[in-house]
Formats: sequence, structure tokens, C-alpha cells
Amino acid sequence: MDANEQFTDSIDALKKTGVRITPQRKAVLKYMIETEEHPTADDIFKALSDEYPNMSVATIYNNLKLFKDTGLVKELTYGDSSSRFDFITDTHYHIICSNCGKITDFHYPGLEEVEQLAGSVTEYDVSHHRLEIYGLCPECREQM
Ligand SMILES: [Zn+2]
Ligand SMILES: [Zn+2]
Repeated sequence: MDANEQFTDSIDALKKTGVRITPQRKAVLKYMIETEEHPTADDIFKALSDEYPNMSVATIYNNLKLFKDTGLVKELTYGDSSSRFDFITDTHYHIICSNCGKITDFHYPGLEEVEQLAGSVTEYDVSHHRLEIYGLCPECREQM
């Protein structure tokens, strides 16, 4: 699925919830689909404030909450600072820089098996799992 299809599908999903599709809402959604980063509401505010001078951080935050409730984005909380957001595509994992907080995606399909194993040895009905890897990103490594 390319970015345009993701955008159209997401707008359809939002319309079904009965919310108004405002230009600002579209802009935040588009940004979330196109970014490779895992931005905070503040990051999005900085990126869009030139084009949408009337948009506040609160508006962006409300949109992100709405997208989260609609199942379009995931909220990533790692205990510290403010939440980061990730547009949901396929299942992927995160490696997090313990110095600058940057989050990078990676895929490791083998972990599907962990859920099956966990379910069969414990007889739990497994819903999901969480895995985070920590380290120093290449930029931070260079500066050390
Ligand atoms: Zn870093
Ligand atoms: Zn991600």
C-alpha cells in the first residue's frame, strides 16, 4: 500500500467515526503517514506551524488521540518525556537510542512464534507483545 492509499483509507476510517475532516486534521494525518520518525505532538507542531499558523499543539494532540482511538496510530510511551506516535503499518519493532531518544524501526518476523509459544506453554490467550531494544544510534556513536 503506498502513501496515497494509506491516506485515502485513513480518511475513510475517520469519516466512519463521524468526525469532521478539517484541513488541519488532514495535514497531521499526512505528516504521520509520510514521516520516518516517531514524532511527538511538539515535533509535528514545529513541522507544520509555518503552513498552519493557527494550529496549536493541543489541536495536534487531540488529532493524535483521535487517530489512536480510530486505530491509525500507536502511542509509544517509554516512561520518560512526552509520548511519541507511530502510524500503524505492519508489525515492527523499535530500537531506541538511549542518548538522544531517536526510535528506528526494524522487522523481525520470528517473534510471531514467541506469542504462540507463550500461549501454548502458559495457556494464556495471548493478545500482543512488546519488545524494545536499546543502544546508541549511529549519529550519537559518531559524537562519542
Ligand atoms: Zn542517538
Ligand atoms: Zn515504528
